[in-house]
Amino acid sequence: MKVNHNALQLESNYLFSEVAKRLRAFQAAESGRVLLKCSIGDVTRPLPRIIADAMQSAAEEMAHPETFRGYGAEQGESFLREAISRYYAKRSLSIAPDDIFISDGAKSDLGNLCDLFDADNTVLLPNPVYPVYYDTSIMSGRRVSFLEGTQENGFLPMPDAAVRADIIYLCSPNNPTGAVYSREQLAAWVQYALDQNAVLLFDAAYESYIQDPALPHSIFEIPGAERCAIEINSLSKMAGFTGVRCGWTVVPRTLVLDGASLHDMWLRRMSTKYNGTSYVIQRAAEKVFTDEGQAAVHEDIAYYMENARLLKSAVTSAGLWATGGDNAPYVWLKAPGTLGSWEFFDHLLYTCGIAGTPGAGFGTAGEGYLRFSSFGTRETILAAAQLIGTM
Ligand SMILES: *Cc1c(COP(=O)(O)O)cnc(C)c1O
Repeated sequence: MKVNHNALQLESNYLFSEVAKRLRAFQAAESGRVLLKCSIGDVTRPLPRIIADAMQSAAEEMAHPETFRGYGAEQGESFLREAISRYYAKRSLSIAPDDIFISDGAKSDLGNLCDLFDADNTVLLPNPVYPVYYDTSIMSGRRVSFLEGTQENGFLPMPDAAVRADIIYLCSPNNPTGAVYSREQLAAWVQYALDQNAVLLFDAAYESYIQDPALPHSIFEIPGAERCAIEINSLSKMAGFTGVRCGWTVVPRTLVLDGASLHDMWLRRMSTKYNGTSYVIQRAAEKVFTDEGQAAVHEDIAYYMENARLLKSAVTSAGLWATGGDNAPYVWLKAPGTLGSWEFFDHLLYTCGIAGTPGAGFGTAGEGYLRFSSFGTRETILAAAQLIGTM
């Protein structure tokens, strides 16, 4: 018996455990001092009432012989796939319900998509990066190369025709930097993917946070993407579903690479290894896409975005360079002078009682930066914004 030695190559989940360890040490040493957590990568607002109600009435259906349901449709229930298709149609995008696959969230799909590709592929990742893309690539034994985000490129690295890639991960709006690619920039990425015969895996988990109407929400707004891209999305950040679990992935029928239909391969993969998202959850998700559902989730999004605005304006008033925060719930700031990420983390913690997430934990290009999350309560954010000025 041999284990997957690629899985042993994973480094321990150092970032979040180290942050937690340092916060415990702070609280032990400075007992009684308030800790303002601007480090959380999870939503904090409860589900909108109408969405919880939809879940409850679907649960009730399951208790009656006339409405009880067993195994669901392979790709997800058609009522939900049609609702998502209409959601795209509002932006004049024609995504057939048949191209949409319902899942239990984006993280699973981002990892599971690896099943479609040979181990002998080069994965191209931005640096800094959402750790899931890197870790799943390592677990499946693939070569990884990076493109660096810098202050000069606004943490929006662009493709280099001289660099080979087979599988490209992009996340826009970005976690951790909050930066968002423009239409022209995404068009350059699509052209690069087509030229390289590569597949572009586009993580749109934060698209609903975009405020600027000129910015693209979906990779399929770019002509040609239907021949090279897969889009992964989730209700986690859009509708507070981090604990509820529901996402979707678009694999267009037009996506044919290496002579194979990735749509057919994904359908085969999902019907082999997945038996579907809970019916109850899919009914709650359906509600999210109604007009009243969208109004309710956009109230919470507006709340988080006001938090982001307060944080970013405090940071820039304090004279620090920052990006993100305008169209994403994360603000990415540069440590003052030559401070490293962890030194800045400790400095903020002990002078202001504010916890951020050290940028170095997202890759070497994150060294010297820190991520603030706007998912806290308004109270926390207001207190933090005031203290940032005294740093
Ligand atoms: C939070 C997040 C997701 C959502 O993951 P789920 O598994 O759907 O909860 C996806 N991508 C990024 C970059 C995220 O930060």
